[in-house]
Amino acid sequence: MIKDKNRIQELMELDKKHFLHPTSPIKQQQDEGPSFIFTEGKGVHLQDMAGNTVIDGMSSLWNVNVGHGREELGKVAMEQMSKLAFSSCFATFSNEPAIRLAAKLAEIAPGDLSATFFTSGGSEANDTAYKLARHYWILKGQPNRRKIISRTKSYHGVAMGATNATGLKPFREFTNSFDPDFCYADHFSTQDLREVIEAEGPESIAAFIAEPVQGAGGLHVAPDGYFQEVRSICDEYGILFITDEVITGFGRTGKYFGIEHYGVVPDMMCFAKGVTSGYAQLGGVMISEKIHKDFTELSTGTLLHGYTYSGHPMACAVGLKNIDIIEQENLIKNAEVMGNEMLKGFKWIQGERRIVGKVKGLGLMGGIEIVKDQQTNERFQTSIAPMIVTEAAKRGLICRSVVFDSQDTLVFSPPLTINKEEMARLLEILNDAIAAIEAQVLK
Ligand code: PMP
Repeated sequence: MIKDKNRIQELMELDKKHFLHPTSPIKQQQDEGPSFIFTEGKGVHLQDMAGNTVIDGMSSLWNVNVGHGREELGKVAMEQMSKLAFSSCFATFSNEPAIRLAAKLAEIAPGDLSATFFTSGGSEANDTAYKLARHYWILKGQPNRRKIISRTKSYHGVAMGATNATGLKPFREFTNSFDPDFCYADHFSTQDLREVIEAEGPESIAAFIAEPVQGAGGLHVAPDGYFQEVRSICDEYGILFITDEVITGFGRTGKYFGIEHYGVVPDMMCFAKGVTSGYAQLGGVMISEKIHKDFTELSTGTLLHGYTYSGHPMACAVGLKNIDIIEQENLIKNAEVMGNEMLKGFKWIQGERRIVGKVKGLGLMGGIEIVKDQQTNERFQTSIAPMIVTEAAKRGLICRSVVFDSQDTLVFSPPLTINKEEMARLLEILNDAIAAIEAQVLK
């Protein structure tokens, strides 16, 4: 025990000194060190070095869809690494896991999305989509179509293009990223999209990108008819429609891909996270058969875009096995059923607590807005959701808060494997944590 304590202390100090954490409050990390040093995971649970067990109510970063501790994925990774850890996919080189995963994706993706460009994650997938869209228009003889329209409250990652497309302003301000070729339409208004297109000039626009359900921006489910109208506006102006399914893909919303809820097919689709459930770093962009055909017929030279790890054999082998698990265990159906259970639970909490405003979700993506007054939806002066996140973590539940754009929202995305008892426990801890903070702030 003493030995463990010393080891934790040592790691705390090394973390503070040497580990610059992604998306982190740097001062707090320096003052307090890491809050959890995780060592193990099983199903929906994570365990840390100090022996605490918590429910991973976020699937870590919306990505561990099949849950933690899947030995079968470890086995596939080991076998592939032992046989062929890496070989290039540049030019005409290839490998079997990448080929088979690309073929499997074509089988499960909506409509005629049929060819995949692989990346190592979601940000690279987004940058790739913008670059492919621009290149497409060069090939089509319309090189002025360079602009990318995205939505307010969107999150598309942190590569340069993805940062510029991200509608949450603090991410752009952080690095002074205000590329004039990126513009933003209100996340719920197709009228605004039309106005942005008209104001920028339709002939200057390459693509419009949207998350089927906005995650990191505060859990926003589009209004009825929104995406159908988006599809027809994009067709009307000849703009490519890209969906960012980095969170919403691979069963998260109760369908294979989030856009399927709306019955429309994008021209390109970005994915990452759930493709391997985080067991390996993988993402990609799928393009429609039509775009693929145009690329093939109109291209005169080399496709000058490629990451060293595009088509990584081990990552693709893990992806294939992960999709197999999702299908074998009916996890997409479970996401729908447990998603309904989660939303029902949120509504129950809303009835129990005075600081819970709107509750929302689709499948296993859920959100709870915190308000000072349930009747008027008035917000507190300071953000309360982060206090609830801290309280919930102490009580054994990891969730996340979103405070951008004056929001005060809790968000959730537990593993698709979650069962009834685990969901009940998640909701119970959540209600207790909200009650504890409510007692403090409504004193
Ligand atoms: N798009 C969306 C919708 C995301 O939620 C994220 C990550 N949370 C990304 C892109 C970026 O993916 P990555 O962090 O793998 O680069």
